[in-house]
Amino acid sequence: MKRRLHVLVTAGPTREHLDPVRYLTNESSGRMGFELAAAARRAGHRVTLVAGPVHLETPKGVARIDVVSARDMQRATARAFRTADVLYMCAAVADWRPLRKRAGKWRKENEVQEVAKMELVRNPDILAGLGARKGRRLLIGFALETGAGEARARRKLARKSADYVVLNDERALGAARTTLTVFGRDGSKRRHAGVTKRAAAEALVALIDAPRPDAR
Ligand code: C5P
Repeated sequence: MKRRLHVLVTAGPTREHLDPVRYLTNESSGRMGFELAAAARRAGHRVTLVAGPVHLETPKGVARIDVVSARDMQRATARAFRTADVLYMCAAVADWRPLRKRAGKWRKENEVQEVAKMELVRNPDILAGLGARKGRRLLIGFALETGAGEARARRKLARKSADYVVLNDERALGAARTTLTVFGRDGSKRRHAGVTKRAAAEALVALIDAPRPDAR
């Protein structure tokens, strides 16, 4: 019998507020992560899904934790990571957040110039931070690249201590079908072209039972 593992999935975008009603975010729909959570559950695992702001139904049998910002996601993910065996870091975490979040609305009347400036500060890299203390866990990172992203995706394997990095391009955003290339630490490369996100999720969940890819 296969072992029942604790599978942690992050999904969706994060929102980085600059005032109570405005924020920076990105186009991630969260669908790939939700499909992953559902597929891991169907495979019999215990699943925790840390979700940024998305309009999706929670897959049956999945424990969902809703978060807003990258720092919220970091806290929730780190907590669940303690007991996790597998992490799919599928969320499109915002790289930057406004340095200052205004307590009240940023009023245009208060600005005298035609050009307004907003300073940004780098968000923590959640996957790299958890990768540094991964132990025996299986870590799968994602890379959304425009254009040829293979070299960049492969560099993320080492930088984030991931066992696999899944490369997709921006055409996957919000779409029903996707093309994925999965790079392993062992130098392996598997391509899944024009598949539904459900089929892609099942292929990614199958990695849990595959032999561990050792670094070359
Ligand atoms: O460096 P880049 O953003 O391209 O890497 C993408 C991978 O790193 C994804 O798995 C994403 O969830 C993760 N990531 C993260 N924390 C960030 C930025 C990205 O965990 N601040």
